[in-house]
Amino acid sequence: MLDSMIRIAGIANESVVDGPGLRSTIFFQGCRHGCKGCHNPETWDPEGGSPVRLRDLIPKLRLNPLITGVTFSGGEPFLQAIAAAELGCFLKEQGLNLWVYTGYKWEYLLKNSMSSGFNELLNIADVLVDGPFQIENKSLQLPFRGSGNQRLIQVSESIKTGEIIQWQPTNSFVMKI
Ligand code: SF4
Repeated sequence: MLDSMIRIAGIANESVVDGPGLRSTIFFQGCRHGCKGCHNPETWDPEGGSPVRLRDLIPKLRLNPLITGVTFSGGEPFLQAIAAAELGCFLKEQGLNLWVYTGYKWEYLLKNSMSSGFNELLNIADVLVDGPFQIENKSLQLPFRGSGNQRLIQVSESIKTGEIIQWQPTNSFVMKI
């Protein structure tokens, strides 16, 4: 268990900007989206960063009772979806919620759910922050995302209903797909 290797760009322990509450954020290495204005271009090279076995990564997350969730950010977590899903499963079993950032759109991930590990990673995420960063839609006012095209999607509710249910701090609203 937790034998898989992943390649990461880094970890932010006790983050408050990658989802609600106090979180540990893992920045995955490797991204092909090439968003103009990307804040983490050093994460693009799939051969960059550091390889780490999942079981060796867990202690580095410095999980403590104040940490309520873990965020997978990037880079592009779906490029390492099988290992990311294995790690996400373990973390969810510890009672943590899981947010996953991706440059792919929700609709693309659903259409390509048979791609290696996509379905598994999608199905264990509580919230998916989808879509590429678009500098023309950049806003500093948006919680937990950089541009207005990105959505905070409640995954299980959206799959169940066939409609995109967006996460809100106090409530949810429905947008027809
Ligand atoms: S998806 Fe994220 S990491 Fe990849 S280029 Fe876009 S902003 Fe950068």
